[in-house]
Amino acid sequence: MEGMGLRTRAAIALGNGAPLIVDEIEVRAPGAGEVLVEMKASGLCHTDLSALEGKFPVKLPAVLGHEGAGIVAACGEGVSAVAVGDPVILNNTAHCGVCPPCLSQKTGYCDTMAMDARLPSPFTWRGESLGRMGPAASFSGHTIIDQSRLTRFDAKIGYDIASLVPCGVMTGYGAVHKVAKVEPGSKVLVFGMGSIGLNVLQACTLAGASVIVALDTNPAKESVAREFGATHFINPAETAEPLEKAIRTLLGAWADYAFDCVGHPAIVKQAVGLVNPYWGTMVAVGIAPVGEQINLPASTFYFGRSIRGTFIGDCNPVTDTPKILDWYSEGKLAIDPLITHRIPLEEINSGFDLMKSGKAIRTVVVF
Ligand SMILES: [Zn+2]
Ligand SMILES: [Zn+2]
Repeated sequence: MEGMGLRTRAAIALGNGAPLIVDEIEVRAPGAGEVLVEMKASGLCHTDLSALEGKFPVKLPAVLGHEGAGIVAACGEGVSAVAVGDPVILNNTAHCGVCPPCLSQKTGYCDTMAMDARLPSPFTWRGESLGRMGPAASFSGHTIIDQSRLTRFDAKIGYDIASLVPCGVMTGYGAVHKVAKVEPGSKVLVFGMGSIGLNVLQACTLAGASVIVALDTNPAKESVAREFGATHFINPAETAEPLEKAIRTLLGAWADYAFDCVGHPAIVKQAVGLVNPYWGTMVAVGIAPVGEQINLPASTFYFGRSIRGTFIGDCNPVTDTPKILDWYSEGKLAIDPLITHRIPLEEINSGFDLMKSGKAIRTVVVF
């Protein structure tokens, strides 16, 4: 099949926040260990918008998307993990099992992820190589990914539901259970009620947190926040007293954990000041624009506070993706109510408009 690319339709990001173009592209045949996936569903994530607007580093033009599920359409040489026809989730994270981080068992990170941006893209558009956000590039009718990045799932779950697992759901689950390690009885603050924030809320509920405060400047988010486990809702733009004071009054104490699910330096700064100075942990879950600085008073760290960064909740796709699917099937995790809109690929720009308006939790492109 060398040189004989498959033709498929993809949404192409050009740069400078310009609308995506949906056009025919060429996808090369899968190489050794690689799989051609026919995409069935892809979520639209805020990080896609950040890439589109140049706030998250992706070399454009490129195929974005990093939250998808599909069917194995063809396998390259030596593929044994999946077979043609298998329903699969495309993971953003990797687990090679042999690199120092994988062998350390301290983390879900894998050294192969550092190579993601350097791997040659399998896409060609108008005769030129076309970039991609990462190996899980999902705004394309077909995509190429290494077999180690795939998790098989029961198609009864639905491709739209499965598509949200590798970013939004997994990030929230991991931030709470793997990064912060929230204990029963904890008091937590969750900033930003997008898909990630809602997933953090439900993970905190599962962890047994007793007070879960959701914060968002959009008052329309209160009902969905409560549906996902918030015990309190605060609109930081509307508190009668300074936010710090309002939260101290509400909790009667410091928070044990705080999660910034927006990715804003000012929120990181505010949130770290609200956690317990002796043991509080603030987790920076949202991705702040590249180049931004976070300035903090040195006294923030005079005692035992910490700030943790994370990517996809530190998750290991080999163990965590199946666990999340099990929890969904057992009714422990809600995914269905996260999907507020379904659109065809041709209407992808309307999906970004919905995201910017705050009307959508998750819009899913259905192929
Ligand atoms: Zn994402
Ligand atoms: Zn590894």
